[in-house]
Amino acid sequence: MSLDLDERQQAMLAEMGIAWLPGLVGAQAAAASAAARPVASPAAQAAAPGVVASPPAAVPAAARAPASAPVPLSVPAAEPAPAVRTAAPEPTLAGPVATLDWASLASTVAGCRACGLCEGRRNTVFGVGDRQAGWMVVGEAPGEQEDLRGEPFVGPAGQLLDAMLRSLGLSRSGGGVYIANVLKCRPPGNRNPEPAEVASCEPFLRRQVELVAPRIILALGRFAVQSLLRTDEPIGRLRGRVHQYQGIPLVVSYHPAYLLRNLPDKAKAWADLCLAQQVAAQAQAGSAGRPTAA
Ligand code: URA
Repeated sequence: MSLDLDERQQAMLAEMGIAWLPGLVGAQAAAASAAARPVASPAAQAAAPGVVASPPAAVPAAARAPASAPVPLSVPAAEPAPAVRTAAPEPTLAGPVATLDWASLASTVAGCRACGLCEGRRNTVFGVGDRQAGWMVVGEAPGEQEDLRGEPFVGPAGQLLDAMLRSLGLSRSGGGVYIANVLKCRPPGNRNPEPAEVASCEPFLRRQVELVAPRIILALGRFAVQSLLRTDEPIGRLRGRVHQYQGIPLVVSYHPAYLLRNLPDKAKAWADLCLAQQVAAQAQAGSAGRPTAA
């Protein structure tokens, strides 16, 4: 069985450093292997010129990995991705945060003292990227590097995230994507966020989502996924489906820091990106021609 990958998909694999997938054969395997490296290749840049303008063709169902294969692909075939709404209630955006514009929201976050994390922070980490992006990426919380620089995903995990985004033709500086975390302050020693900290901070993220109004949200890592979807299901059970957050399609995937430690799961993350790209393209096609709000 072989996977029939077009040039763009091969570029996506190369950007993510994936040299092998079940069913990837012959010249494609050689090309992916030769190109697989952690930084952008010119070929990848050339093959990914636009934001979700030309989504990868769905991976044929027949090309999926056999049950014994270590890294199954689970991108739906030609059908539209099924929408699944997680049955947890979504809170409404409380208080004045709900009406803040970008400038006021950023300054409110910068001065926030709603939980104990403010005591140890060097910087708040608000978010970065295109505030009118079609894609929004949501991670967990700042780590040490992010706390120092005041920007999300700037450490090694951030470099992998940047490569994943490049594979989609997106970049934090070049447009098309906005990146934020559930928490805006670093938990000491990178410990897991506590429920009270999430409760204090989440209104900021909710407002960011409202303001960006992306076509697709990509939630990365167990913590972000479970916080946004209000579930305690593991990522493995939530992948491969389309969820919703504030009425916006949401696809879940592994955290880049996890992928750095578990390289075979990069193939699953690649499948997740393909699904997200498919959903974003459908949303874009669905909104094309609609009158914009006055
Ligand atoms: N991990 C995250 O989830 N977010 C960051 O900003 C950095 C690491």
